[in-house]
Amino acid sequence: MRCEQCGHDVPDGVFCTHCGAHQGTPGLGDPKRRLGHYAAHPGEHVLQPAIFTTLFPHLGHRKLHEFRWVFYGGIVGVFALFFAGLITSALCVSVMLLPILYLLYLYEAQVYKEEPLPVLGLIVIVSIALGVGVTIGTDQLISAEGQFSFAVTGGALATIGVLIPLIQEAVKPLPALALRVRPAFRLETMDGLVLGVAAGLGFGVGESFVRLSKVIVDLPVRTTPSNWIFPLLTTVIFLPLLQGTAAGLVCAALWRFARGRVDVLALLGIALALGGHIAFSLVSQVFVNHGWSQLIILAWEAAVDGVLLIYLRILLHNALLDEDVDLGSASRYCSHCHNTLTAEGFCPSCGMALTAVPHHTRPAPAGAQ
Ligand SMILES: [Zn+2]
Ligand SMILES: [Zn+2]
Repeated sequence: MRCEQCGHDVPDGVFCTHCGAHQGTPGLGDPKRRLGHYAAHPGEHVLQPAIFTTLFPHLGHRKLHEFRWVFYGGIVGVFALFFAGLITSALCVSVMLLPILYLLYLYEAQVYKEEPLPVLGLIVIVSIALGVGVTIGTDQLISAEGQFSFAVTGGALATIGVLIPLIQEAVKPLPALALRVRPAFRLETMDGLVLGVAAGLGFGVGESFVRLSKVIVDLPVRTTPSNWIFPLLTTVIFLPLLQGTAAGLVCAALWRFARGRVDVLALLGIALALGGHIAFSLVSQVFVNHGWSQLIILAWEAAVDGVLLIYLRILLHNALLDEDVDLGSASRYCSHCHNTLTAEGFCPSCGMALTAVPHHTRPAPAGAQ
């Protein structure tokens, strides 16, 4: 069969194994971009704001469910601690939940490739240390009134809402960039994305512990839970998502630049990461100033996270479609269909990008690196 999109002779299939285009569906949108079949998880639309298939792109069906349920179980655990009045423990678990899942994911998908696990361990420790150091440093920028009053205006608002987010976005990618020294992590935009998300989540742990330490020290171990439910949700979901997706976008864009593609897609990714982080911090603070309901603030944070998450998917989807053109035909494992088949870059039956499978299931790269 001849693929109408790339012109290569490919085996029969729903998708072209060479370029990933959807075969024979005129009128269903651009078959080459096939927005209905996200390249890292073809059962989903590209624009679906799913947390796990976006941040954990290497996981197949079954593993994805396991990770999802551990996360939900963790949230239930956080709220169980919380309703038992153990606020300090609930806060600590909520800060660690998503970052620890991400460490398990890096291990599960062997994202570190041939590099030993201590390399990634080091990156995690450096990211957390950066989060602690930068948060303590930038807190000095906020004037005393800004730190202790409820409403933040003027210079302090600009510092909290604009300056600190920009400083954080400049610092967060550093551990991931340090890993670029190793040739194994230089190849694909997806590597940049995953390492960036890991660095962002690590940074978030450091930041949250500095912020919460002031609260935790003052707090008796058992207190009334009434005021904590919304800050807890921000700590367990929305803040880690912001830090992870923003750093993932910046790193994915930088990796794409390094591949020689300085395009609108990647530039817009960096702009959205910076703008999204500013919007998250600045607008939330303005809502607090005006005494708006915590529920509205949460909805705003969720909306910003959703936009960043969807853009991260668009960036990864296009990177996977663009970067797979020269893989060559070999026996490959599709983690979406759980089959081993002869294919090039894409599974001919489901359209999964076969670079987005756990590293240990890949065939040895022929002459790569
Ligand atoms: Zn094709
Ligand atoms: Zn497949």
